[in-house]
Amino acid sequence: MKMIPEAVVTNIKGQVSADNDELIDGFHLVIQALQLNDIHTIYGVPGIPITDLARQAQAQGIRVISFRHEQHAGNAAAIAGFLNAKPGVCLTVSAPGFLNGLTALANATTNCFPMILISGSSEREVVDLAQGDYEEMDQLAIAKPLCKSAFRILHIEDVGVGIARALRAALSGRPGGVYLDLPGKLLIQTMDKEAARKSLIKVVDPAPKQIPDHTALARAIHLLQSAQRPLIVLGKGAAYARCDEEIKRLIETTGIPYLPMSMAKGILPDDHPQSAQAARSYVLPEADVVLLIGARLNWLLSHGKGKTWGGSSLKEWGGQRFIQIDIAATEMDSNVAIEAPLVGDIESCVKGLLAHIDTNWPTPPTAWLNAVQEKKNKNIQKMADTLANNPTPMTFHSALRVVRDIVKENPQIILVNEGANALDFTRSIVNMYQPRKRLDVGTWGVMGIGMGFSVAAAIETGEQVIAIEGDSAFGFSGMEVETICRYQLPICVIVLNNNGVYRGTDVNAGGGSDVAPTVFVKDARYEKLMEAFGGVGAYVKTPEELMQAIQRAVTSKAPTLINAIIDEAAGTESGRIANLNPTANLKT
Ligand code: ADP
Repeated sequence: MKMIPEAVVTNIKGQVSADNDELIDGFHLVIQALQLNDIHTIYGVPGIPITDLARQAQAQGIRVISFRHEQHAGNAAAIAGFLNAKPGVCLTVSAPGFLNGLTALANATTNCFPMILISGSSEREVVDLAQGDYEEMDQLAIAKPLCKSAFRILHIEDVGVGIARALRAALSGRPGGVYLDLPGKLLIQTMDKEAARKSLIKVVDPAPKQIPDHTALARAIHLLQSAQRPLIVLGKGAAYARCDEEIKRLIETTGIPYLPMSMAKGILPDDHPQSAQAARSYVLPEADVVLLIGARLNWLLSHGKGKTWGGSSLKEWGGQRFIQIDIAATEMDSNVAIEAPLVGDIESCVKGLLAHIDTNWPTPPTAWLNAVQEKKNKNIQKMADTLANNPTPMTFHSALRVVRDIVKENPQIILVNEGANALDFTRSIVNMYQPRKRLDVGTWGVMGIGMGFSVAAAIETGEQVIAIEGDSAFGFSGMEVETICRYQLPICVIVLNNNGVYRGTDVNAGGGSDVAPTVFVKDARYEKLMEAFGGVGAYVKTPEELMQAIQRAVTSKAPTLINAIIDEAAGTESGRIANLNPTANLKT
């Protein structure tokens, strides 16, 4: 290792760089290591000490998508990881930029999305003695508890190993976020070019198949066969696993009703006859054997206990018996007993089950199927009646009816969704027809993913994106409309604007002149934000106007923001998770 000598410093647009016949510097070697491993896009925010890394990456043919804030670049990398089953990479500056990106890294880890956050960092010697360096922070130590793995590369000779370690950690087993710390000094080190080339590692089979044990498969089959009221729950792990055909075959051959979690919608089209979505609150408590495929029994499934699972047929919770497919053995029994754990990758596990299931597999008892169908019909009719209304002002329902129709006509559209009521209503009203087309707030129910997810979805797939945003949720990442305009992305943002968090009608309980904490500026003109950067803005008050504005966006592919004004009294406190809000509980 050498520090960069005067003689090899070239000055392209002011950046330090060494990539000549004999020597290569850290900037170039990191880029080569990423490219060797098929990383062709980086999301980030440039600044000291990684500005030149971003410039050089672009010069070497990597697509570098610059954001206005690291959290959104991080969210973009995270969802790129989900969409491609390959780590998305986010590049940030030190300390504050790193911390901004860390929220997205932690969120990616929580959601099991593969991602690598690469941050530049200050001088180790100064940081370790707490001598007050520029943006001094022990980033590696801070990142460690918040992600799957964290690594630092101190010597240029270790770049190949460092990138390989990061890729394997992000992808193997349960996918997740990895932090990679690159001190500024590393980037300007140089080494012999040929030796550097040999030091790089092309990672082979980073997410190897994990074949389930045949005893575990037999146990699962035995339990499934004994079911009187079986149910399959598909989670986003099933979407990530990309074995859509096998999952479809399992569901169709067994005839078992299935329930998709929100990001698993579309693995089978939501109008599939076996979908039990419209009967969710009936099938969860009533099912006697539940097969979970890539879905955790966390808060989103009421931990497998309580009222949600305590059906009349079972008298109380605890009556259900679970089969769970997951790559993480430690997931089993995390909330309730898993009688038939199937540890392995979803594709291998589903194929393993299919090997025991042929067309002679008995369909579930008719009484169960009829009961599910009856509930479904009732709820679908109830929803159809609500959606048929055309109130003035618009409501979540009448606005989302339009989105439902557009997505039905254009099933390739990617739907990004965040908010409280905007999230809950969209999830139940807008059907998805293809896998991995619905990207949302995920396991944490986090706000702020909207524009980051939208940008990456457009960049990675080239498809039209529609982002359904609550006006509150949009505020977390709204400035990224400039990013959307800068890269001219086919993204149509729809802000469902009811003037506040949950709704815009709360009053200041103290009677003071400040508005209530949940209330925003009335009739805010969000569409002008998009117009400010050259995109298309639309201000709409009726479903017809909304339909026309979306159609224009989809046809033109122009960056568009539709400010959809809905009844400010529409919306409930905390959407459908009011039970988690202690204040709301006191009020009711
Ligand atoms: P949802 O929120 O949709 O219910 P979760 O994020 O809770 O989904 O669960 C996803 C699960 O899928 C995680 O437990 C994760 O370990 C698992 N998983 C992800 N990819 C795979 C895979 N290829 N094979 C098996 N399990 C996987």
